[in-house]
Amino acid sequence: MKPFSYERARTPAEAAAAVAQRPGAKFLAGGTNLLDLMKLEIEAPTHLVDVQDLKLDRIEETPEGGLRIGAFVSNTALAADMRVRRDYAVLSRAIVAGASGQLRNKATTAGNLLQRTRCPYFYDTNQACNKRRPGSGCAAIGGYSRQLAVVGSSDACIATYPGDMAVAMRVLDAQVETVNAAGATRTIPIDVFHRLPGNTPHVENALQPGELITAVTLPRPLGGHHAYQKVRDRASYAFALVSVAAVIQKDGTGRVAIGGVAHKPWRVEAAEAAMPQGSQAVSARLMAGARPTRDNAFKVPLVERTLALVLDEAKEARA
Ligand SMILES: Cc1cc2nc3c(=O)[nH]c(=O)nc-3n(C[C@H](O)[C@H](O)[C@H](O)COP(=O)(O)OP(=O)(O)OC[C@H]3O[C@@H](n4cnc5c(N)ncnc54)[C@H](O)[C@@H]3O)c2cc1C
Ligand code: SF4
Repeated sequence: MKPFSYERARTPAEAAAAVAQRPGAKFLAGGTNLLDLMKLEIEAPTHLVDVQDLKLDRIEETPEGGLRIGAFVSNTALAADMRVRRDYAVLSRAIVAGASGQLRNKATTAGNLLQRTRCPYFYDTNQACNKRRPGSGCAAIGGYSRQLAVVGSSDACIATYPGDMAVAMRVLDAQVETVNAAGATRTIPIDVFHRLPGNTPHVENALQPGELITAVTLPRPLGGHHAYQKVRDRASYAFALVSVAAVIQKDGTGRVAIGGVAHKPWRVEAAEAAMPQGSQAVSARLMAGARPTRDNAFKVPLVERTLALVLDEAKEARA
């Protein structure tokens, strides 16, 4: 690990200013992703600004009838919150499908949203990787690509976004609240928060340098049946090959987002109009334009079958 300096900020604006003013500085939350990457020297921040004292660890009801989740709320606390379990069960289920109990105790809401890809070539510094070193090429294209993207990818990068929580947040239309070094706040809709790779796969989200996430807000509950199904190579402690987050209403209409297939949680609102026609119709629209590799072509039918399971589950719950 490369040497770095460390400080604990006292306010969100102070934390944002501390990162904005020092080139190469980064925020430190639970550290479960960042420290791993630092040990491998894939990330080498010169300075860490710890956000644990910023009092961003509360879940509060909003005047609009939704929830405001502090950036430092742990994954464990969020999944266990009674309001989340009752009104946003898709989120609770997605979180407990991820990582392990110990990791979820440390992992935070903002840190989880910002976790980096698990593309094997990103982790191997002997390999070309446009995300790790812009312009160096992509060893995954033509390499081993079982875990990698089938939709939304580019000729520069075919990595997937690996997280579970964000897939549920996408289906719930969450919003990400931030503050910058000047103390200015803004709200970023989750659909534009994570980016597709295009020619700049190293630019993974809509945050500006030094911009701190302070909270994630959820709109009023949607009601309906909430489901999260994750298909993976092992029964636990593994990232998704494919995951499906869904909220399905009594009349068969609903929302769906897919994990494990793209550089961001994959939702195509136009595909949801086909929900009452069944999984094949929805999945054909969701996967339109898919460019799978020989190794991961199985993900396209897997999306359809996992979605079929979720729709069947919802039908049984209605019966
Ligand atoms: C073995 C293993 C298995 C895992 N399995 C899964 C899984 O199945 N599903 C899943 O979803 N995840 C999984 N994870 C990932 C885990 O969920 C993430 O490591 C964790 O959520 C990251 O949160 P953190 O608070 O530790 O972030 P950190 O590691 O502290 O930070 C991650 C990034 O976010 C930035 N950051 C943190 N807070 C803020 C903020 N407030 N504003 C702006 N930037 C910020 C940091 O600078 C850093 O770049 C796994 C991890 C491991 C090690
Ligand atoms: S797919 Fe993306 S992350 Fe993986 S090697 Fe290629 S550029 Fe790097």
